[in-house]
Amino acid sequence: MGGGFSDLLTVCSIGCREAATGQVSSSYAHPVASMVAAIMRNTLFRFVSFVAFPLLAALFGVYLMTFDLLDRVSVDANKADRDRSAQLAQSVIVMVQSRLKSMVEDNSLWDDAVRNTSIAFDKDWVEDTWGVLSGVGSNYDYFALVDRSRLEALTSYTGGVETMVSVDQYFNGQLGLFLDKFPAPLADHMTLSGLIKSEKGIAAIAAAPIMPTSSDVAFDPGRPLMFVMAKTLSPDYVAELGQQHVVDGLTLVPPVVDGSAILLQGPDDQPIAGLQWTDRKPGDVAFASVSGKTYMSLGFLSLVIAGTIGLCWWLFDHIAEREAASRHAAYHDPLTGLKNRAALAEAFSRLQEKQNEPIALAYADLDGFKDVNDTYDHQAGDDLIRLIASGMSHLACKGAFISRLGGDEFVAMFTGGNALGQAELFSQRLIGSLKDPIDLNGRFAKVGASVGIASGETRAMTFAEAMRQADVAMYEAKRTGKNRICFYAASLDAARDVENQVVSALRSFIAAQSMELAYQPIVRADTHAIAAVEVLARWPKGSVPFFTPDQFIPIAERNGLMDELGELILSTACTEIASWGDIRASINMSPVQLRNPATVPRALDIIRRSGIDPRRIEFEITENALVDDFDKAQAQIAELRNAGVMVALDDFGSGYSSVGYLRKMSFDRIKIDRSIVSQIFEGKREQAIAHGTIVMANGMAAEVTAEGIETSEQASILRLAGCNELQGYFFHRPLPAADLRLLMGAGSRCVRKTG
Ligand code: C2E
Ligand code: CA
Ligand code: CA
Repeated sequence: MGGGFSDLLTVCSIGCREAATGQVSSSYAHPVASMVAAIMRNTLFRFVSFVAFPLLAALFGVYLMTFDLLDRVSVDANKADRDRSAQLAQSVIVMVQSRLKSMVEDNSLWDDAVRNTSIAFDKDWVEDTWGVLSGVGSNYDYFALVDRSRLEALTSYTGGVETMVSVDQYFNGQLGLFLDKFPAPLADHMTLSGLIKSEKGIAAIAAAPIMPTSSDVAFDPGRPLMFVMAKTLSPDYVAELGQQHVVDGLTLVPPVVDGSAILLQGPDDQPIAGLQWTDRKPGDVAFASVSGKTYMSLGFLSLVIAGTIGLCWWLFDHIAEREAASRHAAYHDPLTGLKNRAALAEAFSRLQEKQNEPIALAYADLDGFKDVNDTYDHQAGDDLIRLIASGMSHLACKGAFISRLGGDEFVAMFTGGNALGQAELFSQRLIGSLKDPIDLNGRFAKVGASVGIASGETRAMTFAEAMRQADVAMYEAKRTGKNRICFYAASLDAARDVENQVVSALRSFIAAQSMELAYQPIVRADTHAIAAVEVLARWPKGSVPFFTPDQFIPIAERNGLMDELGELILSTACTEIASWGDIRASINMSPVQLRNPATVPRALDIIRRSGIDPRRIEFEITENALVDDFDKAQAQIAELRNAGVMVALDDFGSGYSSVGYLRKMSFDRIKIDRSIVSQIFEGKREQAIAHGTIVMANGMAAEVTAEGIETSEQASILRLAGCNELQGYFFHRPLPAADLRLLMGAGSRCVRKTG
């Protein structure tokens, strides 16, 4: 960026901070983005309060109910299992007794037993048959033959050997009680079983009278021997029984019952022991496993819900973010990051809603921006726009709303009591900051700014109207010289209307490829013979209202129509003059056209296609075209001349009249402006310019034409001064093609004689 531009930015940004009063942009900092975020947060809040939280609460309720149910089921299951275990323990005892009982029954009701005990006691037979087995069999470990009346054993065995202690002592004095359960006298054979305390511990006992099965064996039922067998319930045996009947931890304990046990009664029906087992508590196990699973599924569900909430949160956040980004894109200019037209419109309407207050819009359009794009490239154009955009933010007072409409158009909005003053200050600073060329990485660009300012009160106009007024004022700034500020006034609307009317008419002429031309003869100064014609554009006669070239040519230039219009004029002229012998046609080329690098190649193409000798064509260019960009203009002119086309410097003496250009660049002709000609007798300056021009032209081998000759005196003096050709109403007015043809057909060389 050029020093002047950046310096000014710094100064202005300081000045602006002091002057800042408006608060336009601050109240619009991403309003949509924050609104969207708020909506999203609200949605999330609703989701959490109406969906996620109730769901979690319901889950917790389900969990409590399940827990209670499981607890009850497990208590019931435990109780059922204890009952079952008790039954099993009972049946273990019953089983042991019944096994013993059937053994006693089998052995006591037996003819041989009667023969070898009651009838004739055969101790060896007894020992072989029962005694020895008390030591090896598993079904009984004690055996005795008891005389019931005396409670004495004929013999007794335990562990396979004869017992030393008495039978009554062995059974702790309880055998009598047990045997008393047999009726007396004993009519029929019967076996009884029960539990009893013995020397070795608690034992199952069974007894039966020894009786014959057949009547062949003599038997005295009055004094039967009692056959007694016992099986000690040793800890190992009880444990083994427990295993067989699937009762865990089955064991005998003292007859004080605590927990899971059944009482075992002796012959006197008093508890002699407890049979205890270990409860498996299947309910607890199942509960633990089921509740574990429940916990797991609840945990999993909670995780799923938490995950869903998290996912939703992320999603909302993501959507809000993307929404905000797309809203940001919708309200910002991507090239500069400034707000765009939509944002400006929204800010405007928000201001209207707030209160009625003064507002001013400064509508700036860069002058000469198109040339930067044409000269360099679009990248350079983009860089320039970015630089100017960032500069604008510094130039404007704090609180101003700076926006880019697109292309090279910007609008700054100001509010508050001094809105208009701020808009003007901003515009002045902008124009001032663009005074010097801007450095685009070594390439220098020179642009200006035409600014239109519209002001009023927020509620007194619509956004569209405010923009229209600022736009009209901006066009007025362009129309009246560019790089300046214009304030909107109702009277400008008429000018703008006219401009719009002209633009649309020109567009239709271009579309129809029809443009009327007038031809003003240019005569030799000495003979007054027609040497050439100047081609002048004319508003078609049938098209009302009528506009002069001085009116419609600048409008075409301002509205980007000059390139097409120039081409139309050239091709029309080429067609019309084709049959006019070797007469030269001098065609005006606007500075706007010359700035476009495509103009010269296209013009040469039109001339070539028309078949006209390029040496019959001359382009008139003005000094302005050289002032804008000398190097480019020089290259274009050189290209034309190389192709054989002549180039004249038009209106010389009217503007800068810089002799420097004439030294640096060669022309085929110099046209002394009408303003010099008209003052040639009065003004010393005019005479000097005319004289100097002729001398210089002679030096560069260029011819000189004096235009605007209205009198014979003017014609004479300029001829005498050395002009080669003369042009003006004194000789001929611009004529339609048909009239000119007639004129030339008449062989007119000169209609007036000069002194
Ligand atoms: P210019 O190039 O200086 O054209 C000469 C103007 O002076 C013409 O006005 C012409 O009619 C007028 N003129 C000729 N002799 C006399 C005279 O003795 N006295 C007076 N008072 N005026 C005389 P016109 O046709 O109205 O054109 C005005 C300007 O419009 C032209 O000035 C030129 O700058 C522009 N223009 C006209 N036609 C074209 C065109 O085809 N292309 C471009 N780019 N510009 C054009
Ligand atoms: Ca001219
Ligand atoms: Ca001229």
